[in-house]
Amino acid sequence: MDPNSMRIGHGYDVHRFDVEYVAAKPLTLAGVVLEDKMSLVAHSDGDVILHAVCDAILGALGEGDIGLHFPDTDPKFAGAASGDLLQEVLAMMGARQHYLVNVDITVIAQVPKLTPHRINMISSLANLLELPEQRVNLKATTTEGLGAIGRKEGIACAAVVLLAGNA
Ligand code: MG
Repeated sequence: MDPNSMRIGHGYDVHRFDVEYVAAKPLTLAGVVLEDKMSLVAHSDGDVILHAVCDAILGALGEGDIGLHFPDTDPKFAGAASGDLLQEVLAMMGARQHYLVNVDITVIAQVPKLTPHRINMISSLANLLELPEQRVNLKATTTEGLGAIGRKEGIACAAVVLLAGNA
């Protein structure tokens, strides 16, 4: 394979927990609504995992970042489902004749416990990204109580993607 046809991208996102649970905005990670009675402050649904994946794909394409394409000052994106934003990013990737090879994701969160949701989140990601589950890796770590994440003030996510296609 022509090495010029491979492109790597990295994405990172953080969202702060709302002080109270907002029923209209339940914690949504990787497109899965969690029953943990927590909410993240966000213009969209605050899905940090999908935002990091979008940024990783945009990064691989050399297309800036999610804020450039879906500005949070635009009322059009208020409460936007991040899955819809991801579909737009995937369409851009398709238009550039690239496809995803694999995705590696690390969620950084002190709370909630993500292990019980891991299988559902991988299944959701594979579905959204149209990838076999073996090509979607999802890791989770805490910060051992250190810093803002350790104080349970929010959730962060880093994602790396590899794309292949026409250079
Ligand atoms: Mg975000």
